[in-house]
Amino acid sequence: MSCYFQGCRKVGTTREHIPPRSFFPDGEKEQLMTVRSCEEHNNSKSKDDIYVLAQICMNASPSNRAREVFQNKVAPQLEFNNGALRKRLAKGAVNLGNGAVRYPVDVPRLDSFFTALSCGVVFKSCGSALPENYKVKNIYHCLEGNSSPFLTAIENGIDSFYSGEPMALMEFGDPGAKNERIYTVKVFGIPGFGSSITVVHEFFGKFKVTSMLTHKLVMKSS
Ligand SMILES: [Zn+2]
Repeated sequence: MSCYFQGCRKVGTTREHIPPRSFFPDGEKEQLMTVRSCEEHNNSKSKDDIYVLAQICMNASPSNRAREVFQNKVAPQLEFNNGALRKRLAKGAVNLGNGAVRYPVDVPRLDSFFTALSCGVVFKSCGSALPENYKVKNIYHCLEGNSSPFLTAIENGIDSFYSGEPMALMEFGDPGAKNERIYTVKVFGIPGFGSSITVVHEFFGKFKVTSMLTHKLVMKSS
């Protein structure tokens, strides 16, 4: 059994939870899935997971479940290690006045998380790892601004190109107030890696990320 990560040829000797267990309260972890992973691509003990969760919660406002998860999962870790996580989150923060603070987002850190998450979701829904000739780009809707023409084009593109029918739809976490689940994901594309794939992630029904897995055509020389 090989590793779930794109292009990795190592043997999957460990199990990786998708989404990460650390995001979920006790009692909601049972629903999670696992994929086979090599040591290198197993992020389950990664410190980045909590950084990413903190950013998701802070940017998913207003959401009752985001606040609840932040309080239970992120807040207890803020002061560990001499406040390492708190300092990392506050680095470069801008005080906007009247109590509001804008926190910078470490996009490369989010990218490595969402690329790995997309690989896991694709592995589960397609039955094998994402082939090497796919390029991954993650788009963070809440960081793009509300009326970005880029986002409108993406949303219209998904609907018309794939007729709105996902290959896979997965939901994790019990629905809370206003039916907020912690994580839902839809996978659009043609089965058997016959096309580009679009993975639409949503945390708390608010923090949306679109991962575009673009099929690079291999040009044959004649
Ligand atoms: Zn691997």
